[in-house]
Amino acid sequence: MPHTVHVIGAGLAGLSAAMRLAQAGENVLLHEASAQAGGRCRSYNDSTLGMMIDNGNHVILSGNRSALAYLDTIGATGRMRGPHEADFSFIDLASNERWQLRLGDGMLPWWIFSDARRVPNTRARDYLVLARLMWRPGKGTVGEAITCSGALYERLIEPILLATLNNEPPEASARLAATLMRETLAAGGRTCRPLIAHEGLSAAFVDPALAYLAAHGATVQFEHELHRIGFEDGRAISLDFGGKAVRLAREHAVILAVPPNFAARLLPGLQVPNEFRAIANVHFRVGQATALPAMTGVVHGLTQWIFAYPGRLSVTISAADALMQMPREQLARNVWGEVASIAGLPETLPPWQVVRERRATIATEPRQEALRPQAVTAWGNIFLAGDWTSTGLPPTIESAIRSGERAAKLAAA
Ligand SMILES: Cc1cc2nc3c(=O)[nH]c(=O)nc-3n(C[C@H](O)[C@H](O)[C@H](O)COP(=O)(O)OP(=O)(O)OC[C@H]3O[C@@H](n4cnc5c(N)ncnc54)[C@H](O)[C@@H]3O)c2cc1C
Repeated sequence: MPHTVHVIGAGLAGLSAAMRLAQAGENVLLHEASAQAGGRCRSYNDSTLGMMIDNGNHVILSGNRSALAYLDTIGATGRMRGPHEADFSFIDLASNERWQLRLGDGMLPWWIFSDARRVPNTRARDYLVLARLMWRPGKGTVGEAITCSGALYERLIEPILLATLNNEPPEASARLAATLMRETLAAGGRTCRPLIAHEGLSAAFVDPALAYLAAHGATVQFEHELHRIGFEDGRAISLDFGGKAVRLAREHAVILAVPPNFAARLLPGLQVPNEFRAIANVHFRVGQATALPAMTGVVHGLTQWIFAYPGRLSVTISAADALMQMPREQLARNVWGEVASIAGLPETLPPWQVVRERRATIATEPRQEALRPQAVTAWGNIFLAGDWTSTGLPPTIESAIRSGERAAKLAAA
C-alpha cells in the first residue's frame, strides 16, 4: 500500500522530496503558499526589462551529485550549461589584471605549481593555507582558522567563500568552509565545472519537476498555505490550510519544506537558525553582445560576479546586507560603472533592475550552524527539509535537494 505524504512548500527541497516519493509510487500531495513553485530559485517575467529573468543568478557545480541526479530524473540535465573544464575568469579592479583559473581535470592540484595557472601574485607555498582550512578547520570561524588577507585570500578564497557561504568569510564557519573546499577544490576540476541554467531557473529546476509530478499522479496545490498543525500523542493528526482542515490517518506523513522561521511557527519548540544574509542581483538589458564569458569573478569591486546571458548582463553580490538601504538607482549606477569598464561598454546606464533578497540564506556562522535541525523531529510523522536543515552543506541548491531526498526516505520508511 502506498503511503500518503503531504509535502509543505514547493521550493527545491519540497520538489525534490515530492519527486522522489512520486518516483517510489507513493501518494504525494504538495502544498505551496504562493502562486508559483521554486521558492528562492525561480524565474519571473520582469516588466521593466521586458524579459524573463531569475530572482537571482544561481550556479551549481558538476560535483553537486544530488542536484544533478534530480535534474536527470526530471529530464532537465540539458537545461544546464557550462564549460568543458573548470575554468574561471577573474578581473581585479584595483590593478586591472585579468586571469584565468584553470583547475584541470585531475585530483592532484597541479595548477598550484604552474605560474601560468595559479592566481597571479601567489606562490605555490601560499596554498598550504587551503590545506589547513580543509583538514584542520577547528570548530570556530574561518578567521580563526586562517589569515584572511593577502593575494590568495582576496583573489581566490574570499570570492569562493562569499559566493558559496553567503556570509562574510572571516565570521563564517570554518567547518562548513572545509566541507565545501573538500567537495570541490580538493576533489579536482571534474567536480568544479560551473553549471548555469541558460534558459532560466524555472525551465531547469521547476517546470520539468512539476511535469514529472503530474505524470506520476502527484497533486500540487498553489495558494494553499499551511496555517496550523494539530498534534496528538506525539504525532500530527490534522493540517489546517485556512478553513479546510485535513485529517491525517495513522500512516500519513508530513514533510515541512518551508523556511526556518515558518517551520518554527508550525512546530512548537523547534530550534532553528534565526539570522539571515542578503543577496543583491543587478540586471542590465544590453543591446550588443560582449566578449565576457558566461561568468566572471570580480575582485576589489562592489560587483562580485558578472553573468552574461543573451541580451543581459547580471551581477551578483553576496552577503549584501549593507546594500539593502542603498537607493536602487544608486546601486544600479555604481554597479554599472564597474561592469561597463570591464565589458568595454558605454557608461550610459542601460535599462536595469535590482532584486534584493533580504533573507536569501541563513547566516553560516558557527552559532547558526549549531541551530540547524535534523530531518527527524519530535513528532513521529513530521520530517524537515530545506537548505537550512542539518545537511553538512552550505545553504545551497545541493543542500535543499539533498535534504528533500533524505526527508522522502524517512517519510516513506
Ligand atoms: C538571490 C539568490 C541567489 C542564490 N544563488 C545560489 C547559487 O548560486 N547556488 C546555489 O546552490 N544556491 C543559491 N541560492 C540558494 C538557493 O536558492 C536555495 O538554497 C534554495 O532555493 C532553497 O530551497 P528550499 O526549498 O530549501 O527553500 P525555499 O526556496 O525558501 O522554499 C520554501 C517554500 O515554502 C513555501 N512556504 C512557506 N511557508 C509555507 C506554508 N506555510 N505553506 C505552504 N508553503 C509554504 C514558500 O513559498 C517557498 O516556496 C541563492 C539564493 C538566492 C535567494
